[in-house]
Amino acid sequence: MKILNGKELASKIKDRVRDTVSVLNESGHGVTLAVIQAGDNAASSTYVRNKRNACDYCGIKSLVYNLGSDATEEHIVNLIHVLNITDYIDGILVQLPLPSHIDERKVLQEIDPKKDIDGFHEINAGKLLIGEKTFVPCTAKGIIKILKENNIQIEGQNCVVVGRSNIVGKPVALELLKNNGTVTICHSKTKNLELICREADILICAIGKPRFFNKEYISPNTVVVDVGIHRLEDGSLCGDVDFDDVKDIVSAITPVPGGIGPMTVAMLMENCVEAKIAKI
Ligand code: NDP
Repeated sequence: MKILNGKELASKIKDRVRDTVSVLNESGHGVTLAVIQAGDNAASSTYVRNKRNACDYCGIKSLVYNLGSDATEEHIVNLIHVLNITDYIDGILVQLPLPSHIDERKVLQEIDPKKDIDGFHEINAGKLLIGEKTFVPCTAKGIIKILKENNIQIEGQNCVVVGRSNIVGKPVALELLKNNGTVTICHSKTKNLELICREADILICAIGKPRFFNKEYISPNTVVVDVGIHRLEDGSLCGDVDFDDVKDIVSAITPVPGGIGPMTVAMLMENCVEAKIAKI
């Protein structure tokens, strides 16, 4: 069994980004990311901190706007409009989830698609669908990257994606399809999920349920990508996959922590640089 080490790969990618940013800085083209957070969701604060640390490491300037949990939709949208027209801001990221009184979808559509480094704007989502160049959502991009860098063939393989969110499931399914995988998308209404998962050569687990996928879902030699992140009561982290139960069956697996999480952040750094380069 091979551990697909996302932490190590993410480090290498961030080194490459840092080199590119350094060249950009020397030619007066510094890269700046604006992060908007509303509320004090503990997990969101951790994600924002991780993104900020990655920016610092790569030499990308990060500006974090923490608007508090009583921020109104109008307040967030007004800030986005200002950031859209601020020339030195290259990327705008709204940390999800937003408080329940705010319409997330509406807010995300206000971001200038050219600065939408998460790739959640309808225009960018549409481009992804028709295979045009765009910002690929970071988790999906990170999954494809970790598979490719570990020489895992996607073309012709049975790829099963469990989860159909706009943030993870759908974009990763589209990216697998673009790479000539044969893709099945499953969700909470899917019948015979175990059976479908056992048919997978590559199984992407993104449902947000701790240790849901045990060995009943996995055939020998499957490559398993565990997207879920959960903090358990003892403070430790686990994924959607029951790692200990499946580790002796799979051919390769991404660990939690140290798998897709760090890859997602590294891809965000890449997308920020892409946004800058597209502007010059
Ligand atoms: P969502 O809650 O938006 O989507 C969950 C999806 O899983 C839905 O499509 C849902 O189906 C499906 N689902 C839920 N329960 C089942 C079930 N029992 N059987 C089959 N399908 C099921 O989650 P996200 O996509 O945003 O995130 C998924 C996980 O990935 C979370 O743990 C999240 O924390 C993690 N995550 C990790 C990232 C990283 O960087 N590693 C980045 C983003 C997310 P339906 O549509 O029918 O409701």
